[in-house]
Amino acid sequence: MRPAGDPKLSNNILFSHNFFTNLRLQRRSARALALTLATLTAACATAAPGASSPARLTAPSAATSQNSKFNAFIRDFRSTALAQGITAQTYDSAMAGAQLQSRIQALNEKQPEFSKQIWDYLDGAVSPLRVSNGQQKLGLNATMLANIQSRTGVSKYILVAIWGLETAYGSNIGSFNIFDALTTLAYDGPRQAFARGELLNALKMMQREHYSRSQMISSWAGAFGQTQFMPSTFFKYATDGDGDGKIDLWTSPADALSSAAALLDGAGWQRGQPWGYEVTLPRSFDYAQAELDQTKPVSAWRTMGVKTALGAALPAETGEASVFLPAGARGPAFLLFPNFKVILKYNNSTAYALGIGLLANRINGGPPIVASWPRNEIALSRDQKFQFQRDLAALGFDPGPIDGMIGKQVRSALRDYQKAHDMPADGFATLELLSRMDRDIAAKRN
Ligand code: CA
Repeated sequence: MRPAGDPKLSNNILFSHNFFTNLRLQRRSARALALTLATLTAACATAAPGASSPARLTAPSAATSQNSKFNAFIRDFRSTALAQGITAQTYDSAMAGAQLQSRIQALNEKQPEFSKQIWDYLDGAVSPLRVSNGQQKLGLNATMLANIQSRTGVSKYILVAIWGLETAYGSNIGSFNIFDALTTLAYDGPRQAFARGELLNALKMMQREHYSRSQMISSWAGAFGQTQFMPSTFFKYATDGDGDGKIDLWTSPADALSSAAALLDGAGWQRGQPWGYEVTLPRSFDYAQAELDQTKPVSAWRTMGVKTALGAALPAETGEASVFLPAGARGPAFLLFPNFKVILKYNNSTAYALGIGLLANRINGGPPIVASWPRNEIALSRDQKFQFQRDLAALGFDPGPIDGMIGKQVRSALRDYQKAHDMPADGFATLELLSRMDRDIAAKRN
């Protein structure tokens, strides 16, 4: 939970990846889930505190019954934990005071009605304040960051950008106790199995590292420390960066940033390679080529007429890259390298990864994006996304399952629709296209 965070920023990471799809597809990445969960927080940040809510006053028996079930869960889970090598002493000191958090329960069930557009997200992610604070942090931690970069090969600018986006450089590390957060999620709701695994890891972490319960602060989703690790990620990648013999991701920037570097290194970061950069596309560009999984050698993109943002020839990078149009043909284009996909391992959202890359560039003194965003486009609501899929299906363009998510199959169906109507086939869903399809369907009926 990041109550002091930028709500615009937090709400927005969801724009390109549906949370519940992530949940099914991304079990392999605890980080991805945790961070996606963290994006849901801001909407409820202004909710009234539960203590004075009318529901509490009118239905005390329901609350009491839920609390007794919660306490029963804590009692029952004890044997599971002890079977995993957690001592009774660890379990009892972590769990005896665990509180059911109604605010977390609400966030856990919430489906966002509107997602914001990527430019709104990036305005917050790469704000002038975040850039200048990042430059200051870069200077204050120059030696430490240079050491991590030379040891792991991971760009220090990317690391500082992660620090800046995750917790505003350590200034906003969450407001829940990790055992309250994970026990609430493990007790009931759509993420029980995941949260139970993380809860066991949090207990193991406490036992192995001798943390006190009170120092174990987390977001509502159980992500903790200055670079927001999950307990399972801790066991894979956490390192003692400052060499004091303890791993403390809450208070030691060196520990938190070394650990983040270890995660990116483990995910395949390529030393010295860029994450990507802005490009311009020729008028004749086939937009169907602009998908993250369509990689080609840079030389092939060069042959196709792709140039730098300022219209120069592409640098002679080695390796494969993909072209990405986060806002369709009317917005900026980016050439993305394998390191972009490594950033997605930190948080599986293209908006997040682009935010990290662009913030890193700005912290490094680079220029802002050259092309403008189509800021007049209004984000589709959840209902409108369902309607969008139904319209495509009704017009004979198969969008896949009608699930309210604009994914690859929807973009592909939309491209077919756009091609059939001589429009640039960028697969970017807009309200204008939705109205046009509505009109096509009405015309077909008459
Ligand atoms: Ca340390």
